[in-house]
Formats: sequence, C-alpha cells, structure tokens
Amino acid sequence: MTMLNETHNPALQSWMASANTPGTDFPLQNLPFAVFRRPGAGEAFRCGVAIGDQIVDLAAVAHSGVLAGEAAAAAQAGAQDKLNALMALGTSAWSALRLALSRALREGAAEQAALQACLVPQAEVAYDVPARIGDYTDFYTSVHHASNIGKLFRPDNPLLPNYKWVPIGYHGRASSIGVSGQQFRRPIGQTLPPGADAPSLGPCKRLDLELELGIFVGSGNALGEPVPITRAEDHVFGICLLNDWSARDIQAWEYQPLGPFLSKNFATTVSPWVVTLEALAPYRVAFTRPEGDPQPMAYLDSAANRAEGAFDIQLQVGLQTPKMREAGQPDASICRTTYRHAYWTVAQMLTHHTVNGCNLQPGDLLGSGTLSGPTLDQAGALIELTAGGKNPIVLPNGEQRTWLEDGDSVVLRGWCEREGAARIGFGECVGKVLPARP
Ligand code: MN
Repeated sequence: MTMLNETHNPALQSWMASANTPGTDFPLQNLPFAVFRRPGAGEAFRCGVAIGDQIVDLAAVAHSGVLAGEAAAAAQAGAQDKLNALMALGTSAWSALRLALSRALREGAAEQAALQACLVPQAEVAYDVPARIGDYTDFYTSVHHASNIGKLFRPDNPLLPNYKWVPIGYHGRASSIGVSGQQFRRPIGQTLPPGADAPSLGPCKRLDLELELGIFVGSGNALGEPVPITRAEDHVFGICLLNDWSARDIQAWEYQPLGPFLSKNFATTVSPWVVTLEALAPYRVAFTRPEGDPQPMAYLDSAANRAEGAFDIQLQVGLQTPKMREAGQPDASICRTTYRHAYWTVAQMLTHHTVNGCNLQPGDLLGSGTLSGPTLDQAGALIELTAGGKNPIVLPNGEQRTWLEDGDSVVLRGWCEREGAARIGFGECVGKVLPARP
C-alpha cells in the first residue's frame, strides 16, 4: 500500500504555470499516464504524463537522457505505443519515474530546459486506449446498484444471497474497448418486447450508460499462483474512468443463465488518463461493512484493506443531447457520487480474481461495476435513475430521457479533493451514440 511521500506535498508548484491553476485535473501531485500522438504528423503513439495542459512525452524524455537509473528505464518503457511494458516493470519503477518527474517539473528544477523540449500541448493530440488489453473483467461492486437492479427484476428478493460473500464479475470483451471520443452505432440484437410471445431482431430501444472505474493491472501473476490480498495492490498500475454502455432490452432477454453477452460487448469507453494508485494515496478511506453484514472471508480481509482499502474518488455523469449541442449548451449533470460507497475494494477484486490461480497480465482491465451510491441522485445508470424507464429524467432545457437517444453524448468525470491535499482529476471520458446500422 503506497505511503504518502514528497510527491504528494500540496505546496509543490511546477514551473509549468498551467499545472498550478486551481481546479486543474493535472497538478504536479497527479502525473497520470496516457498514450498519445499528434494526428496528421505521421507520428507514432507513445506514452506520456500529464502536467497542467501539457504532456511530458516519455519517448522524448528517454531520448534526452535527462533522467537516470530506474526512472530512465521506466521512461524508456514508456517510449512504446502502449503502457504495457511500463506496467510490467512494477511498483518500484513506476514510483521512481513519478519521483523523478515530480522533482524535474518543480519550480527551480535544473531539468526545466531539457524537459521543456519534451512537452506536447494536450490540445494538439489524439489519444489511444492506454494499454493492449488482453482480458477485461467487469465486476459488480456497488451493493446499491445490485439492489436497485435486483428490485426491478425480483422485487421480493432484490439481492441474491451470494452478493455479500463473493465479488461478482463476468468476463467481458476487450476488442470493443475504445478511448474517450468513441462513437458507436446503437446495437442491434434479439429482444422480447413486452407482451410478445416471440423475440425479434432490431435496434436496441433501451440503451443505457454505466458509470464505472477501470482498474489497470500492472505486473501480472503466474498461472496457478494466487495473489494474497496483502500484495494485491502491488499488481495495480492505476485507475481510469469507464463507461460500460449497456443494451437493457437485449440484456433482459439474454442474461440467463450465463450473464451479459451481446448487451455489453458492442462498446466500452475508457478515459485516456490512468491515475496511479500512488497519486491516489491521499484519498484513501477505510473499508467498512454495515453492521449485520457478513465480514469478508479471511482471504479477502487484511488490516490495511480495512484501514484504507477504499478510495474517495468523486464521480459525475453528464448528458448532452443533440438539441443542447446545437444550442451551445454544455452537458447536464444526471448523477453525482463517490467510489467510497463500493462494497468491495480494488484489492479484494484483484485477490478474488486470482484465488483460483487465474493469471492476470500487464494491461488487463477490471471494471468496478456501476458505481451507484445510496440515494437515487447517486445512481450511475439510467435504468436506476428512471426506475427501469418509468420515470423520465428532465434536463435543464425541458427535454426528457428514459434511455439514450441517437446523438446523445455521455461525459464521465472523476476527481479527488480533501483538506490538506492537492485536488487531482481524471480528465473526461466521452462517448456518443450514433443511429443503428440501417
Ligand atoms: Mn458494467
């Protein structure tokens, strides 16, 4: 578990002025990773680190020789077109690179001139999915989401008996994961319309979003070797925003007995920026279980996990309709919550995933599951916000939505703030619904 160190000092200022602007997502204390290039210039994708409104180009840093030792080796791994090589190096390398960049980007640093030559403005770049994602697993770690969904399908028995014992998940699909800016066609699939006696094939009529976080695996584990919870976070590179778009009508018809399939695998959108667990250290909070609930089984329990295994990450969902876009209106907030409400922690997810010997690999992605909080305004999906499509939400311009319509954009945002620490952010995760294929 990462301890606080000099890189978290809220008093640190950068020679890059935009990193010191109050409210920026990317101050000196954050230093998240992405994969980027300037489009149209024939450039290759490479890894970079955000500082204010700029990107530190790790390929340029590696070439410049400005860093030394383990940090230089980490920057060299970051010269590749995906984060996998850097992810595979492990916590010591990630931490060495963070410390070296933190020092070199500080006001008065001797490396200023050398690093200035390695900066690329964020406004000029296009991003790619940050890692080569071998496998994607989506969990279900919000008990509030599980209960709300359960009530719609099983009013008498909303929460299945396994929920409070085992972190529920299913294997998703990696090929359709796209980076922020992703646009996708409304999926076509089999549904059983209400009252019909046979299913039909057609465009999804109940298209939804899911507010989630994505957890990127760093160093992997060998097949057959479980990761104990005390070591679980050593295998986590960082966290991004994730929208697990969902076709609820397709899901309702197909999900039994093996779980979601085509209702989920047509598109998943992640934010370009991955915030490291080290950057998130100041925002750790205790993992707690409501009184009367089963306590975690021994393999899912540790003193550190109880003391600070959860993260207080603020989350928001915005929706922009085509009408709002045409009128120049920004997206409207439809949900505001925090990750601290999750029932299972990052460490518990990773440990459970490997308890049977399953091997995780660098770049694998774990979805948190929809992160609904305890009250309705904290629900991270339309199926909850509209009670299964019964109560439309009303947007500031008077438009209503029960499900997503063609042309709608969804924006996820995340940030951390607390007294005595710098505010850091995740940037945005934006995706847009296009009409179904004719
Ligand atoms: Mn999901």
